[in-house]
Amino acid sequence: MLDVQKIRKDFPILNRTVNGKPLIYFDNAATSQTPQQVIDVIVDYYSNYNANIHRGVHSLSQEATDAYEQARIKIQKHFNAKQSYEIIYTSGTTHSINLVANGFSSLLKKGDEIIVSALEHHSNIVPWQMLCERTGAILKVIPMNENGELIMLEYDALLNENTKLVFVNHISNALGTINPIEYIIEKAHSVGAAVLVDGAQSCPHIKPDVQALDVDFYVCSAHKMCGPTGVGMLYGKEEWLNKLPPYQGGGEMIAEVSFEKTTYAGLPHKFEAGTPNICGGIAFGAALDYMNNIGFENIAKYENELLDYGTEQLLKIEGLKIYGTAKEKTSVISFNVGTIHPYDIGTILDKMGIAVRTGHHCAQPIMDFYKIPGTIRASFMFYNTKEEIDAFIVALKKAIMMLS
Ligand SMILES: *Cc1c(COP(=O)(O)O)cnc(C)c1O
Repeated sequence: MLDVQKIRKDFPILNRTVNGKPLIYFDNAATSQTPQQVIDVIVDYYSNYNANIHRGVHSLSQEATDAYEQARIKIQKHFNAKQSYEIIYTSGTTHSINLVANGFSSLLKKGDEIIVSALEHHSNIVPWQMLCERTGAILKVIPMNENGELIMLEYDALLNENTKLVFVNHISNALGTINPIEYIIEKAHSVGAAVLVDGAQSCPHIKPDVQALDVDFYVCSAHKMCGPTGVGMLYGKEEWLNKLPPYQGGGEMIAEVSFEKTTYAGLPHKFEAGTPNICGGIAFGAALDYMNNIGFENIAKYENELLDYGTEQLLKIEGLKIYGTAKEKTSVISFNVGTIHPYDIGTILDKMGIAVRTGHHCAQPIMDFYKIPGTIRASFMFYNTKEEIDAFIVALKKAIMMLS
């Protein structure tokens, strides 16, 4: 079992106060907090072996290269990729998605079809719209129901021999819905389409096995899973990564350069132009170690308890409506209270030291579906507690009284 009081000691930020009150951090779906074990790795890097990688013969450069490549192998093992060079370091989910979308520019033609879901984050909509503009491909959308679940019958009906790509998030950041990606992948493959899964919200809570899923591309950001900002990864099947052209030109991604012709480096370097976030990559590996030490089964079990408890307590409040009531969901609760604007509640909660997210959560199409401008979103991680939820409920009731 998970010892939450022991875990909380690993996170120095949880000791601080905000506006004179102890911090209650419920904005984990936007970014997670960083344990001392990961902070130590960052400090150690800049204190002891900061150097550019893959270039120098000197010792520091060797040490930095080794640590960076060892972290890549940790990521490979974590996601169960067949090869370490199927893991491409990126600056995060958004970068990973753009890398793939850009690569498909040369593989699509007019009349080809791309399917996205109604539950997507903006970063998983806009790159595909841009890709469609460039290529003349057509964008289709899997609709959702009132509970915030994708309608699989409608998905089946969208698939045909023109479908080339399907893009869906594993877990919705706005509602917490866990999407049936196994089914989505299998069906897409039956018409010969590739699938990219946005794992930005799933990776903090579950451990995906990319080979078992048979997924073509899987992407995530380190900062949502106890790592630093500015680093993430793209997993791609070797055959797909070989088909895609490089994304950016620069150092590190070439084999040979002359003014007549440049030949590209092999995987993964073909997609890693320029000096990367070296320290970030190493710290990403440390974040995976940290979470694996706690254990993803323990994490899921505990976060489900927080979700059930939070949902139960919130629903006792009169006029409160939760958006996203899918059977399969993670510890994200999106809600509104009567006609009170989410922003007003968020502002008062902040005065009481409580960090929640208010707004459209980069998922305006979902808000349009429910015909609301936004929601208040409380999202829990394994370092949150039931006591924090109790304090949050008391503060929320106070805010409601002040505003009605
Ligand atoms: C946060 C998030 C993104 C964007 O991640 P970045 O780290 O900002 O690139 C994309 N998709 C989902 C589902 C997210 O939650």
